[in-house]
Amino acid sequence: MLALCTPVLAQASELERWRPVEIALPLVIALLLGGVLWWMQRRRGRQQAAMFAEIRERETRLNLALWGSGDEFWDWNIRENTLYRLGANQLLGRSTIETLTTDEWRQQAIHPDDLPRVQKLLQEHIVGNTEQYDSEHRIRNAAGEWVWVRSRGKLVERDSNGAPLRMAGTARDITSLRRAERERRVALEVLRSMSEAVAVIDTEFRFISVNPSFSRITGYSEQDVINRDSRILDSRQHSEDFYRRMRDILERTGHWAGEMWQLRKDGGEFLGWVELSEVCDSQGVRSHFVAVVNDITDKKRSEQELRYLANYDALTGLPNRALLLERLGRAIVRGRRQETRVAVVFIDLDRFKDINDSLGHAAGDRLLKAAATRLQTTIGAADTVARLGGDEFTVVLEDIDGLATVERITQEILSAFSLPLELDERHHVNITPSLGISLYPDHAQAPTDLLKFADTAMYQAKAEGRNTYQIYNEAMDVVARQRTNVLASLRRASERGEFKLQFQPRLRLSDSVITSAEALLRWHSADLGAIPPSVFIPLAEESGLILPIGEWVIAEACRTLRHWRDQGLNEITVGINISVLQLLRGDLVKQLGSAIAASAVPANRIELEITESMVMQNAQQATDVLNRLRELGVSLAIDDFGTGYSSLVYLKRLPIDTLKIDKEFIADLHRDPDDEAITSTILAMGHSLGLNVVAEGVETAGQLEFLRRQGCDQIQGHWFSPPLDADDCLAFIRQRQSGATPTG
Ligand code: C2E
Ligand code: MG
Ligand code: MG
Repeated sequence: MLALCTPVLAQASELERWRPVEIALPLVIALLLGGVLWWMQRRRGRQQAAMFAEIRERETRLNLALWGSGDEFWDWNIRENTLYRLGANQLLGRSTIETLTTDEWRQQAIHPDDLPRVQKLLQEHIVGNTEQYDSEHRIRNAAGEWVWVRSRGKLVERDSNGAPLRMAGTARDITSLRRAERERRVALEVLRSMSEAVAVIDTEFRFISVNPSFSRITGYSEQDVINRDSRILDSRQHSEDFYRRMRDILERTGHWAGEMWQLRKDGGEFLGWVELSEVCDSQGVRSHFVAVVNDITDKKRSEQELRYLANYDALTGLPNRALLLERLGRAIVRGRRQETRVAVVFIDLDRFKDINDSLGHAAGDRLLKAAATRLQTTIGAADTVARLGGDEFTVVLEDIDGLATVERITQEILSAFSLPLELDERHHVNITPSLGISLYPDHAQAPTDLLKFADTAMYQAKAEGRNTYQIYNEAMDVVARQRTNVLASLRRASERGEFKLQFQPRLRLSDSVITSAEALLRWHSADLGAIPPSVFIPLAEESGLILPIGEWVIAEACRTLRHWRDQGLNEITVGINISVLQLLRGDLVKQLGSAIAASAVPANRIELEITESMVMQNAQQATDVLNRLRELGVSLAIDDFGTGYSSLVYLKRLPIDTLKIDKEFIADLHRDPDDEAITSTILAMGHSLGLNVVAEGVETAGQLEFLRRQGCDQIQGHWFSPPLDADDCLAFIRQRQSGATPTG
């Protein structure tokens, strides 16, 4: 294309004439005429100059306008197929006025991909299909880069036949516009796909637009909120003042960020992390705010849950050790200021392990929960009840005026536990606590020390027979240290081979025959010397060490029996003491079975001694295990009978053969008529159930006489023989068999 736009100037010409008349007149006339001519010529010259100046002026203005607008003007002479372009220097970096053939131009400048479209649009306009030619396409600038232009034009001249002669229009560089448009589209896409709610609001805080996440999070659609006040999201969880301050900061600084509860359309609320930022127009004047809202309700909740977990016991919901120590610390500070005492009560449930083992962990958990509730109800909400783990609880009592108050509260706890705990409709469990007390400032100043001392006192309460309380004193530390030492040595005793068994023979009174021998565990510690079973057995039970130790006892007792049988003692039964833990841990039957098999001894030559309290506490499970043991062929004895609360009816249901009367009753025969009565009752009762009744701890001939009179079946005790080493016991039995008659 190329059109010529130079203006066409017309020129006029005149004829001048000369006539020879009189000299003077013609001369004057000639002069006048010459003057007129000269004047006319001058005027014409001036007019011409003015016209040219005006044309130049117009062209400059057009140029300036084009330069100012950044547009290019083009003029296409269709017939000659030339293109005239003005202002092209800005667009293409070329000369201001340029005339090219249209084909040259097209080939050189228009992007080959766009060329067919451009030609089609031109064609459509020329044939009259469109009002205007309007095209966006790429052209190459002087630097050889492609730039986008928008070219618009019209057919301005046709010949008399209507054939197109000339087309003119403008072109404009729209590269940056297109880039901005693309960026806007991308930004919009990003906004739409953002998981955060985004809202654009005006400076009056009215919604202008929102993204889909906004609708998802708040429940408001775009139509719901456009032009509405953004305060519809304000939650009542924040005060008016909060919102005033927030908007004030936003207006002053152009930015606000923070956590804010927001109201959903359905009235529900969510916690949002809100960032508000101003948006300024090109003049730097604030035009909008953009709000980006992140729903952090879940995150916050899990943070709170974590905080809760860090401070509270998940099972009972009570404060844990960390929170307890913190609260105790604060209580001490208050106590110091107000000069009052703070008491720490350490609570441990007695024989919880047994119940946990026998009923299962789910029931154990329910029991702990029930115990926690009972403690909290007894103590009241004002004081702290914490769970330290396992079956250990702690109570912090503030504002204590003296020991009497603590002891009263402690008694209340003890009596609260005298009623059974309800696990569910069917299960009620009796469990007692042992309590230890320490006082601030009497015993210690620091929370950890107070806790440690209360713990020490609690152990003392256990040692005192459980279901009681003890107040800390320094002497207890010695006991506690000893306990720790003993436990440390006990852990190594097995591998060091420090255990052995002694055997105490049992005598049948009717025919003076030794029927059996009870295996009794002995521990000679390399560190601590000989430790009596009354000290180490409870420790082994508490620590669980009794399981491997008990297993060793069973195997060792069976080996000894094997040895004795090999020596010809075929009628002897060996008694083995069994701890409650062994009874309830399920594999006792298997363990015993393999020990019997390994030593090849008859099962009916083994008698297991189980304490009465052990059976009574876990009646159902104990009975099951006892039945299975019975099936194995071993016989069963109830040890230390009389100290528990067995009812006759209950005993009837147990698969037992023997009752062993506790040596406490035997010791006091002759001295305490009650013990005599108890002993005779047990004997009568046992016989009525067809049981073999044995008296333990018989030390004197008098005791023996009494027992004989009451029809006691067998005796065991120092009067007859103390516990002996296996070989000594073998010798003793042999000697007795070879004819020696019993004395007394
Ligand atoms: P126990 O089963 O009632 O054992 C009888 C206790 O009475 C033994 O104490 C025995 O030495 C003692 N004794 C025997 N005759 C007399 C006497 O005439 N007078 C006095 N005062 N005492 C006598 P020991 O050996 O100290 O055992 C204490 C307890 O330790 C046992 O009581 C038993 O409950 C437990 N025990 C011993 N060995 C084992 C064992 O291998 N496993 C388990 N689980 N417990 C054991
Ligand atoms: Mg025993
Ligand atoms: Mg006993």
